[in-house]
Amino acid sequence: MLLEVRDLRVEFRTRDGIVNAVNGVSYSVAEGETLAVLGESGSGKSVTAQAVMGILDVPPGRIAGGQILFQGRDLLTIGREERRRIRGEKMAMIFQDALSSLNPVLSVGFQLGEMFRVHRGASRSAARARAIELMDRVRIPAAKERVNDYPHQFSGGMRQRIMIAMALALEPDLIIADEPTTALDVTVQAQVMDLLAELQREYRMGLILITHDLGVVADVADKIAVMYAGRIVENAPVKELYARPAHPYTKGLLDSIPRLDAKGKELLAIKGLPPNLLRIPAGCPFHPRCPLAREVCRHDPRPPLYEAVGEGRSSACHFWRETIGE
Ligand code: SF4
Ligand code: MG
Repeated sequence: MLLEVRDLRVEFRTRDGIVNAVNGVSYSVAEGETLAVLGESGSGKSVTAQAVMGILDVPPGRIAGGQILFQGRDLLTIGREERRRIRGEKMAMIFQDALSSLNPVLSVGFQLGEMFRVHRGASRSAARARAIELMDRVRIPAAKERVNDYPHQFSGGMRQRIMIAMALALEPDLIIADEPTTALDVTVQAQVMDLLAELQREYRMGLILITHDLGVVADVADKIAVMYAGRIVENAPVKELYARPAHPYTKGLLDSIPRLDAKGKELLAIKGLPPNLLRIPAGCPFHPRCPLAREVCRHDPRPPLYEAVGEGRSSACHFWRETIGE
């Protein structure tokens, strides 16, 4: 397995108390596989990924338990140097906001080339040639003429392509993309997502696609983990999740993919807000918003991830059978 996260716990110390942002998350990504991690903001999907990338190792964030196995080695226990090397060369991350990830006063060609100078000892001219190659690779028109342009001279979609190029530069084994298309127009979103999926297949990388939007991952993900209040509440191969969701929260998300009803109103299926992570409700954390909730849901123990749902499937709902329509 390329990446295996096991029972990960992350907490943040705040003035109001300990925020349990990630509460025992496990997931895996095989070589060449795409895992979509879906959830509202505050569900812990980004924090889990940041723990994998090692950008949470600073207070107030703290990894409170679990394992992060990359190609079989636990990133939380191996030596610092080795860990830095793995995270620098074998993993890459793409963020939502390219403008704040790119340096505004350096040309994109310089920033792309720097990857090769720093990590591969390339000369200036070789690095520049590689930068142009990468810009071509992510289909930036007239790469040769644009290599000296600055980030603000590119459109949002083109900047996101540059982020993808940066991530690909060292040919990592794993890419984590956190809401990579959220800031873009819908048509540009689809183009960028298609490009990412195509490159991922070509390079046979593992890809973790973090999103709040089920609509954007349907065509590119192999499997989906749905997160709520710092836990995974459903795991499923992508087609099955769409066809037969086994958790009421997933059902709600599917129903709230933006579309208009006959009267032209937007349908919003899930009422209420995600819980405050300082005070996660007892029992099923989703119960205050769940249309199927009943007495047993309000009390501990929390529903475990029931694996009887099917091959590669699980649901943290006591009533998954009912939900799935069995
Ligand atoms: Fe809803 Fe109860 Fe299932 Fe939680 S366990 S999702 S509250 S039915
Ligand atoms: Mg986020």
